[in-house]
Amino acid sequence: MTGVPSLRQVVAALDARYQPSWAEPWDAVGLVCGDPDAPVGRVLFAVDPVAAVAAEAHAIGADLLVTHHPLFLRPVHGIAETGAKGRLVSGLVRAGIALFVAHTNADVASPGVSDALAEVLGLTDCQPLVPTAPDSLDKVVTFVPVADADRVLDALAAAGAGEIGDYRRCAWTAQGTGTFLPGAGARPAIGQPGQVETVAETRVEMVLPRQRRAAVVAALLVAHPYEEPAYDVFELALPPSQRGLGRVGELPAAELLQAFVNRAATALPATVGGLRALGPADAPVRRVAVCGGSGDSLFAAARAAGANVLLTADLRHHPASEAAEDGGLCLVDAAHWATEWPWLRVAARTLRADLSAGATDTVEVAVSSQVTDPWRLHAPASTGRVPTGQEAADIP
Ligand SMILES: [Zn+2]
Repeated sequence: MTGVPSLRQVVAALDARYQPSWAEPWDAVGLVCGDPDAPVGRVLFAVDPVAAVAAEAHAIGADLLVTHHPLFLRPVHGIAETGAKGRLVSGLVRAGIALFVAHTNADVASPGVSDALAEVLGLTDCQPLVPTAPDSLDKVVTFVPVADADRVLDALAAAGAGEIGDYRRCAWTAQGTGTFLPGAGARPAIGQPGQVETVAETRVEMVLPRQRRAAVVAALLVAHPYEEPAYDVFELALPPSQRGLGRVGELPAAELLQAFVNRAATALPATVGGLRALGPADAPVRRVAVCGGSGDSLFAAARAAGANVLLTADLRHHPASEAAEDGGLCLVDAAHWATEWPWLRVAARTLRADLSAGATDTVEVAVSSQVTDPWRLHAPASTGRVPTGQEAADIP
């Protein structure tokens, strides 16, 4: 016994928080390298799988490096050490350090990347800015002779019905009386053609994922003892999802845009470029939308959610310029790395807690201290002067 979990156990804990199926179709998440049976005593969390972070993983004796951004987003046909990515992954493999990626699945998780960003900015009552469509559910109801109810219930569960969170074979049952009059050509399991029959029956209700509907109904028809089983399938209305892209929440009190930007600059880890903002400096800010990483597709969602300001990263000239013309929504553009970094602490804490809750073994966790924002120089342009029209015209 090593006293620490295996990589397989750690990956299972991470997958439960950041399910791979939540990732965008173009994304590449999950385990990149590592032996699932290897023990994991120390885990390093970082935004970017870059050389400085790999060196840190080596230096602190990490067995697993968890990064937000994928090392390999597109398929590769080799990992020769003639390129940065090949050197990085080869070095990790040689040192026995596993690499795991939680990217867009961590973006939409609850709690996820934007929850952590909202938390450091002091937002409360947060909801997803673009909620993930909840998984569609049906409910199946059938009426079974009491003695056969458990058998039919088991068959429905085996076909995929009755799963609610970590619970299996969930059902609700009640007893009542069924009645029917078999026709002349019927071959009833109970009773005779031409005679009204009454049977003590159990009503069985179970939920099921909509994509399992055909399989569950087929299982019902096979398991049910009646020639013509009675059953209903209902499509369920679902509560709003807590998962989704971005978050919108409230500040405890309104503040001016300039004050909000100043506060955000101290709440986020420092980068050379700092923050820049669009909107009147004295615009009141109370309802705040955030999105860790690139969020310039979320202007309409932020407006629809009633946000006064959207804080995100990678804002481009044209969408920002158009937003400024439209007015009403202030924008704050931060460093991509800085908006995602707060999640590392949450993910590290959560992993340690999840592992200790599920078993006696847990891991040491560390958050990378490397600033991997790629921009390293900044010169404020405020000392420059835009030439007047005549001067500009005179430029040869
Ligand atoms: Zn990102």
